[in-house]
Amino acid sequence: MLGFMVALSLLGSADTQPPATPGPGVSETLARERTGAIRNLKYELSFTIPAGRQTAIRGRSIARFSLEKPQRVVFDFAQPPERLTQVRAAGRVVSATVGDGHIVIPAEMTKAGENEIEFEFVAGDDALNRNDEFLYTLFVPARARLTFPCIDQPDVKARYSLTLTVPAGWQAVSNGAAIRTADAARGPGTSTVVFAETQPLPTYLFAFAAGRFSVETAERGGRQLRLFHRETDAAKVARNRDAIFDLHASALAWLEDYTAIPYAFGKFDIVAIPAFTFGGMEHAGAIFYNASSLLLDESATQNQMLDRANVIAHETSHMWFGDLVTMRWFNDVWMKEVFANFMADKIVNPSFPTVNHELRFLLAHYPSAYGVDRTAGTNAIRQVLGNLDEAGQMYGPIIYDKAPVVMRQLEMIMGAGPFRDGLREYLKTYQFGNATWLDLVRTLDAKTPRDLAAWSRAWVEERGRPAITTRVRMAGDRVASITLASRDSMGRGLVWPQRLTVVAGYDGDVKTVPVDMRTATATVPGVEGRARPRFVLPNGGGLGYGLFVLDDVSRAYLVDHIEQLLDPLTRGSAWVTLWDNLLEGAIPPPALFDSALRALPPESDEQNVQRILGYAGRIYWRFLSPEQRQARGVRFETVLRDGLSRASTQSQKSAWFSAYRDTVLSAEGLAWLERVWRREERVPGLTLAEPDEITLAMELAVREVPRWKEILEAQLARTQNPDRRDRLAFVMPALSADPAERERSFERFRLLENRRREVWVQDSLQYLNHPLRAAHGQRFVQPALEMLREIQRTGDIFFPTRWMERTLWGYRSPEVAATVRGFLARQTEYPERLRWTILSTADELFRASRVAAEPAAGQRVSLD
Ligand SMILES: [Zn+2]
Repeated sequence: MLGFMVALSLLGSADTQPPATPGPGVSETLARERTGAIRNLKYELSFTIPAGRQTAIRGRSIARFSLEKPQRVVFDFAQPPERLTQVRAAGRVVSATVGDGHIVIPAEMTKAGENEIEFEFVAGDDALNRNDEFLYTLFVPARARLTFPCIDQPDVKARYSLTLTVPAGWQAVSNGAAIRTADAARGPGTSTVVFAETQPLPTYLFAFAAGRFSVETAERGGRQLRLFHRETDAAKVARNRDAIFDLHASALAWLEDYTAIPYAFGKFDIVAIPAFTFGGMEHAGAIFYNASSLLLDESATQNQMLDRANVIAHETSHMWFGDLVTMRWFNDVWMKEVFANFMADKIVNPSFPTVNHELRFLLAHYPSAYGVDRTAGTNAIRQVLGNLDEAGQMYGPIIYDKAPVVMRQLEMIMGAGPFRDGLREYLKTYQFGNATWLDLVRTLDAKTPRDLAAWSRAWVEERGRPAITTRVRMAGDRVASITLASRDSMGRGLVWPQRLTVVAGYDGDVKTVPVDMRTATATVPGVEGRARPRFVLPNGGGLGYGLFVLDDVSRAYLVDHIEQLLDPLTRGSAWVTLWDNLLEGAIPPPALFDSALRALPPESDEQNVQRILGYAGRIYWRFLSPEQRQARGVRFETVLRDGLSRASTQSQKSAWFSAYRDTVLSAEGLAWLERVWRREERVPGLTLAEPDEITLAMELAVREVPRWKEILEAQLARTQNPDRRDRLAFVMPALSADPAERERSFERFRLLENRRREVWVQDSLQYLNHPLRAAHGQRFVQPALEMLREIQRTGDIFFPTRWMERTLWGYRSPEVAATVRGFLARQTEYPERLRWTILSTADELFRASRVAAEPAAGQRVSLD
């Protein structure tokens, strides 16, 4: 990681030639060298955490392991060499070489059998997320080496014994249970906590957090659960705590039953962290969450409650899938993610009996997976990974959302019973160890007559999705045949075997036909000789995965009549398909926008309402010209206000209100919102919590309402929660009506120090690049692109994608599209994965810019 080589000679043997270092990062070659040699690794670790976050954290680590023979042992420590203050082997000070982020212990300092290497060091802050009153580690995927010397790869698991010395009054939590706490043992004003030795864990699952946290405790099913949090609103904690404990307890019980393996990591803690960069992170025995995804506001939507249940079930599933059995190498990181998502869906469903779960699966996974898989920047589920430096780029919607769709297809092919039995066998065989996707395929293949290896090739090992075209052939006024033809738009001739549920709509009737599509074409059975259907929707049952290119008759019918489909799942699926057809240029944006305005009032399913609101907002800002937006604005606002009045629950009202707040432009609408923000008027049936008011203030400011500045300052003054107040203060310059201040706000991001709180940066970019500010904001696109490599090098794993998404979301002009294309054209040596990040996040801009460039795009075009 660090591109230098320095010989660090600690004592004696200065004339010994240092051995070659293994190159930057953690290459697969280095990983294999260590996997083959190092056995029974244990770390005895201690850190002293000072009260001030400017003061360095000192640490000591003793690594114990066995070797078959003396050989060099390479540790990872991605810090400047002076931060390593001493290395000892078997108690003797040794000279070791630090370079490229490695410490090489020469073979002559090791022996066959037990070895003990001791390091004293100054921990790097990079992965410690230090705040004034708390810190927490986040070592995924290979960032533990930024903090302490270790073997930073997933298949050298170790047992950790941790001791933390923290300022008095701080709480501390880690994977192991706290077994002893001593006050002032290491000086006045300190508290020392000793944690029990853990089960074998990879470095990316080792974690601790310390700071001023409140702790809630509960017992569920004979197990003590603890919730660490920093929420200052006591009512909010009281409102959420039991749900949080219950959801964890029921997920644990479900997983113990499904896997037939008891929870393996002893105690169970939950840590709610403000502005945590992920929804959650599955550290064994101490799951970290984004506080806002656990502690919901009173205005939480049904979707937010589902999302919370889902993230809890997801992280809890990881205790088996990922923590108990870990991927051998990060190219299989998708496996733990797919199983966590897949199990989460199974676990959450019974807790929400009133929800349409088939629809939820469709809307939770397909649009997001398509968002990448339809683009030139998409990737395969299983990717090649030469060095853990690039592991962060494995993550994204392909593994989080496409993989669950693929896994559901696999369960359907095998049958639920044999599939579960295969998973049980896999978990039992590899528990506390590591396994690859191929190990799983072998286990499952033995339980089905289908050729899983061939199936895996198209779905798992290659990128992209099929384009499936419907053809309706008529003989007179009767149907001769309906066929589906699958095409590989990337020209490889791939065929994706899959199950579909085709829905054909007739007057007052629909016909649902299962189709097992094993080859590139399939005929829909049982429709010949009937009248021509009003529409044919190949994924009407929500199963099929691909771009479904509708025939002209079906497309026209659905654009005009979508709200008349009776089944909510078919409606949801039709919306996802029409959106794809719009992006393909087959539906003029104003036509689909009008469909949305027509379909919203009668839509009875909340999930569909949210989806349609989302599409309407995206068409409104990105695919309509300012004139088209102007022409439809009043009607849009009326539909949203009516929806808000009509909604019967807090969660529905919140969905309508958010959509209104994010799109309103009329003077009357803004005046009303300002009165709501000033608490002079209430939204009947909707309580606005502090985060809602902050967002409202920001949306008013970006619209430059006359007193925008006063509103922001008043909001800052009345924000009680210190973390939220700091965040708003950071974002405020990006909201300014003064372009020079916005430019200074962007310039801050050139310094790493100003990018540490990535969520704050994302909020700022969101407003700097708001569509209402596109004319000025487009100057940020080029520098943002130029900074992307550094963003990737210094940030957490989702940051490059989010950086680009927030940079590009507000634009539709051919000029900005040309800026992005020009940048890519000039970067001939650009890393391929990062190029994909740009291509996938710019895809909608490219499509919208084509619409913007063709004023005649009011005509319906045919794809055939
Ligand atoms: Zn996960």
